[in-house]
Amino acid sequence: MFLEKLSSQAYHEGILSALKDTDREVYELVTKEYERLQSTLQLIAAENLCSRAVLAALGSVVQNKTAEGFPGVRLHGGCEVVDDVERLAVARAKEAFGARYANVQPHCGSGANQIILTALLERGDKILSLGLDQGGHFSHGSRVSFTGKFFDVENYYVDKETFLLDYDVIREQAFKVKPKLIICGASVYSRTIDFKKFREIAESIGAYLLADISHISGLVIAGAHPSPVDYAHFTTTSTYKPGGPRGGVIVMGKDADLQIKVGGKESRLWEHIEKATFPGMQGTPYLNSIAAKAVFFKETLSEEYKARQFKIIKNAKRLAGALTDLGMDVVTGGTDNHMILINVANFREGLTGVIAQKSLEQCGIVVDMIKLPYDKGSATVASGIRLGTPVVTKNRMGAEEMDSIASLIEAVLKKVKIAGSSEYRIDESFREQTRDRVKQLCSRFPMR
Ligand SMILES: *Cc1c(COP(=O)(O)O)cnc(C)c1O
Repeated sequence: MFLEKLSSQAYHEGILSALKDTDREVYELVTKEYERLQSTLQLIAAENLCSRAVLAALGSVVQNKTAEGFPGVRLHGGCEVVDDVERLAVARAKEAFGARYANVQPHCGSGANQIILTALLERGDKILSLGLDQGGHFSHGSRVSFTGKFFDVENYYVDKETFLLDYDVIREQAFKVKPKLIICGASVYSRTIDFKKFREIAESIGAYLLADISHISGLVIAGAHPSPVDYAHFTTTSTYKPGGPRGGVIVMGKDADLQIKVGGKESRLWEHIEKATFPGMQGTPYLNSIAAKAVFFKETLSEEYKARQFKIIKNAKRLAGALTDLGMDVVTGGTDNHMILINVANFREGLTGVIAQKSLEQCGIVVDMIKLPYDKGSATVASGIRLGTPVVTKNRMGAEEMDSIASLIEAVLKKVKIAGSSEYRIDESFREQTRDRVKQLCSRFPMR
């Protein structure tokens, strides 16, 4: 007897049932995670929700293809379809960012940065970047990361009083340090970054500029934050933070075709980047992720996506304002992007970042504790929390809901009993009551 061939439609449609039938445990965990997302408030600034179309591309047969290399020049056979997938993703990424070159192969945002470092630097070369404890990222040369092991890394700082980048101070430091590469972009910084000034600084000392816009790339695509694409030599981002699949992307603007010499080899800047991608850092790109990136970049071209990025900022400003009105210390006094940083130690004597995060989470409000710049607390205790509005905005919450969220947060942080730097107790009936209120709020704004 011959087995009948399934159509692509039937094959892919049955994906969740296939999981349910073959692995009940994982299926139930997936279901649980879905329930968690639906019934609690997601305020993690580094998260977003991708569309079901993006999920479909991730869970498609495209994931099976091995294809080391780039479209048209692969080491494996049978790549004609995935070549088209990758070309489409590249074209759409270029359009989204207004870039001349796009590389959609990086497995993640950290990997995208590693590719730039690999392409450009020799062992011991100098990097100037924002310190990890100042709002920078591990992949910007932190000592605990691969990127800090082989290079000579100096950090610049935010101002001690204002918590803002001071470009004059950075310029002076760059002049002294003479780095080969300057990295700008941050994970904990709620104000606009002046990429033009960073380029002027880089230009004045003949350094390359890498702008890592992981957190704000959705805003950049929509024009809700100034774009670095023609100022930086390289712009990198993770693709999940702006609402796509997990992964990374590198784009380049007017410098893409610059001829430069690295390790005695002269070629165009983008060619150095491709060599550093494969075989430099990676093998086969995740082609299902690239298919999903193509879907996502198409979504970013829509009016809905663009309007949403502005609303993310509007919601963040509203939430920051409401929290300030309730007596919270919002770092820098507000926000220009999707991110709100709060010094909880200034809200209540003895309150720490870790207690704030854990007590809020027990009440159904999911946030990150963070070390603020010049934070005296350790990384596991910290004085701050970071909130973000991409997910709640995707779920169509607005001003009224931001006010409700602010008062929910205030109620928890007032009520929690502090019993040490990371020990606390929370009244059970209060916790259940708050969880219910959160659940009710969330049930009016389901994921779609
Ligand atoms: C999140 C983030 C990254 C890391 O992205 P991954 O895809 O998680 O590796 C890199 N740089 C900055 C500034 C980030 O905020």
